[in-house]
Amino acid sequence: MPNKTAVVTGGSRGIGRAIVLALAGAGYQVAFSYVRDETAAMELRGQLQAQGVECLALQCDVASADSVRAFFERVEAHFQRIDLLVNNAGITRDGLLATMPVKDIVEVIQTNLVGTLLCCQQVVPGMMRQRGGCIVNIGSVAAQKPGKGQSNYAAAKGGVEALTRALAVELSPRNIRVNAVAPGIVKTEMSTALIGSQEEEIQSRLLIKRYAEPEEIAEAVLYLAERGLYLTGEVLPVNGGLKMP
Ligand code: NAP
Repeated sequence: MPNKTAVVTGGSRGIGRAIVLALAGAGYQVAFSYVRDETAAMELRGQLQAQGVECLALQCDVASADSVRAFFERVEAHFQRIDLLVNNAGITRDGLLATMPVKDIVEVIQTNLVGTLLCCQQVVPGMMRQRGGCIVNIGSVAAQKPGKGQSNYAAAKGGVEALTRALAVELSPRNIRVNAVAPGIVKTEMSTALIGSQEEEIQSRLLIKRYAEPEEIAEAVLYLAERGLYLTGEVLPVNGGLKMP
């Protein structure tokens, strides 16, 4: 049996990097994208290659349909098939809606939501031909329990949750499962800005009194991909109880 192939968008840093490492550790050959941080991407690629993992690291802006198409053409040319897509690439541009630049609204929706749709669109034909595959989208607790200043991001991640359910319905006849992981606050560059001055308020809303490690989100992705075989159209929360109080 050849190894399964996974594609992870935004795999160069943070949660995406942890997902790439977890999937490689589970025996996947991995293609991942980055948009700006080539140094981090090449370092990760080197680490995987040193472990003997077949790996492709390519620049791709998920907000651009042309860039996404070119990325998946190169991945499919290299690996011939894609078994798992993890839509992880994402950005925040927090601010109050009344004064938010239109650019921040558009970029957040385009990257988090449209980018996810565009990547799904590229892998679905191949997965349908294979009569099998798995898609895991990275949502956010913000879709259900947004903080102040997250209207653009919460709308995008709410869209990702709805897309997850809609695509699960569309693709289940072809044996393709579609699920999402909705992280709470995870220790990455993205959350550093969010935590900022709100640290005490956020900590008081957590039942588990610490932030998640990226590896804990990667573990949930791996579960949905490899073990949760009777799950589709679901959003798995991994948020330390942030949603509850
Ligand atoms: P991060 O540390 O900021 O890393 C973001 C990753 O996405 C990087 O690899 C970055 O590439 C890539 N990326 C950004 N814009 C992109 C674009 N237009 N096209 C392709 N790749 C792009 O973020 P993170 O905290 O790991 O977040 C990963 C995912 O988890 C996001 O979807 C985020 O919304 C979600 N999430 C995070 C948290 C949290 O607390 N951190 C909580 C809930 C959900 P470069 O390295 O090249 O810049």
